[in-house]
Amino acid sequence: MTMTISFKELGLAQPLLQATEAIGYTQATPVQEKVIPAAISGGDWMVSSQTGSGKTAAFLLPLLNQLIAANPNGKPVPGRAEPQVLVLCPTRELAQQVSADAINLVKFARGIRIATIMGGMPYGKQISQIKGANLVVATPGRLLDLSNSRAIRLDKVKCMIVDEADRMLDLGFQDDIEAIHELCSDRGQTLMFSATFAPRIMQLATSLMNNPGRIELASAHDKHENIAQTLHWADSVAHKHKLLSHWLSDPTMEQAVVFASTQADSETIADSLRADGHEATALHGAMPQAVRNRRLQSLRKGQTRILVATDVAARGIDVPTITHVINFGLPMKAEDYVHRIGRTGRAGRSGVAITLAEHRDRSKIRAIEQYTQQPLQAEVIPGLEPSEKSRKPSHRPGSGRPGRSFGGKGASNASNRHGQGQGEGKTFKQNHFAKPSGPKFAGSGKPSSGPKFGGSGKPSSGQKRTFA
Ligand code: ADP
Ligand code: MG
Repeated sequence: MTMTISFKELGLAQPLLQATEAIGYTQATPVQEKVIPAAISGGDWMVSSQTGSGKTAAFLLPLLNQLIAANPNGKPVPGRAEPQVLVLCPTRELAQQVSADAINLVKFARGIRIATIMGGMPYGKQISQIKGANLVVATPGRLLDLSNSRAIRLDKVKCMIVDEADRMLDLGFQDDIEAIHELCSDRGQTLMFSATFAPRIMQLATSLMNNPGRIELASAHDKHENIAQTLHWADSVAHKHKLLSHWLSDPTMEQAVVFASTQADSETIADSLRADGHEATALHGAMPQAVRNRRLQSLRKGQTRILVATDVAARGIDVPTITHVINFGLPMKAEDYVHRIGRTGRAGRSGVAITLAEHRDRSKIRAIEQYTQQPLQAEVIPGLEPSEKSRKPSHRPGSGRPGRSFGGKGASNASNRHGQGQGEGKTFKQNHFAKPSGPKFAGSGKPSSGPKFGGSGKPSSGQKRTFA
């Protein structure tokens, strides 16, 4: 690999160096190496890099550094609800994760307070928590709620970060984000993180940012070499249950996330695992937030061995002890496959990702292979072989579409800034979404549909409730 850089060389303040050391970060990850100096230098940036590559600290460290620099004596902050840094996250789980990371990073700093704003939690506590918070991590809906009721003012925000921007669009948050953008339009900096720079993301970037610089590291098409990926063809749901059971008894299995396609499926699968004597719980977006929190916490503490979840858990959740990800039901969109498997193999560890598919799923499998640009190796387990008809030969993905990936591992074109023309994005709100995206795999079998599969539009708002 390339030379690594310490946080000290990146010019971070002493309390942050102490914190990174206490957490056990010895060197900056490649994305941190690029993003930290870029963010400190100012201006707007859009960043894409592989899941698990350390993006959270990549934006938290430079922003916390600025907050420390602005208050060098660590004076207590006045109790106003006027944050200077705003981090937007698509899900509550991710917002909590990001806040927890931020709280860890300011352990040795004085005069910095972090607050979390998200739906599903009591208003009163949040409203008192945001008084005096300099950095607020929020999901868009509740933030707008609190802003509308004047419980928070956003006009002092100096930097806004949009994490998982592509997911934000999938969940229908475009209008909310643009409204928040207007509320903090005096800010000097915007950072946007996304798995891809697909056209719809670029469009959002144009409306939120001024001539953003781009930082691209390793893309979704990267090999994820630390994650062993396997495919099993199954004859039926009952057959999938047997395969699941087999993998959950794997001696190397410490903790697993089993992904289901729907909320109802996640409950059914968890129930049947418990009936078989496994410690399993379900997690999906229709559960009360307190329950979601408890279940995630219990996974973190190692009390839950198996979490059966919808795609609400596909992104951002960082539990390093997850050894296995099992796709019991396939994701709606090929790119979510990459996010799901990224729940294992965190921070340089190795992981196992198993996908169970029935014959009728073959177009989704093909879509995943095209998206990742690598074949999913089908394997059989003695005694659990699929019948001849369910077994599909693996095929070469992405043939005829060379060069679609964003440059190889480590490739980056940071500081790719364009001229200084006044940001068109601030005035033009382009909004020509081609079509509302229906079922995300609608384009299956059409080899030329590009790396994304029909995900160019805004989903109907009902979608997030049903599938997350
Ligand atoms: P991403 O947002 O890119 O998916 P995260 O920010 O959640 O990734 O980080 C993934 C994991 O890597 C986390 O467990 C985090 O604590 C760890 N991590 C982040 N930065 C470093 C570092 N410099 N050294 C070691 N581990 C790190
Ligand atoms: Mg992240």
